[in-house]
Amino acid sequence: MEIKSNKVVSINYTLTSAEGKVLDTSDGRAPLLYIHGKGNIIPGLEKALEGKKEGDKLNVTVAPEEAYGIRDERLVQIIPRSSFEGVEEIEPGMQFQANFEGHPQIIVITKVEGDNITIDANHPLAGEQLTFDVAITEIRDATEEELAHGHVHGPNGHHH
Ligand code: ZN
Repeated sequence: MEIKSNKVVSINYTLTSAEGKVLDTSDGRAPLLYIHGKGNIIPGLEKALEGKKEGDKLNVTVAPEEAYGIRDERLVQIIPRSSFEGVEEIEPGMQFQANFEGHPQIIVITKVEGDNITIDANHPLAGEQLTFDVAITEIRDATEEELAHGHVHGPNGHHH
């Protein structure tokens, strides 16, 4: 069976930055399962997996545009401390979820200067060139229910 739209694909992977730092890996965990063609994974990786078979291994380097996008400096803003009502301590590196232009987004505090809080709504991996070391462990047809939901369900049909 080869990878094409609406197949459930299991992969083991290691993700490294352009500097060679390991950012994420399935090592020591269960493989990652996704539905091909549904945008479950980043476009550059999905494209590279198209047509591959069980047991294939690949090493793919993906440009930021095909990964988490390029950084948008307009997403860096300075807001007053008073926006964080009820938050005792505000420190760089803190993350929170906010509604940003209509969708939920993870926002990181990058700088704290008195009452001026700098926040960054870019994806933490925006602007990064990413390299994936991938081994394809299994390919199967997606079920009707999985296709309707657009994501993979567990082996016992349990909904997550
Ligand atoms: Zn579901």
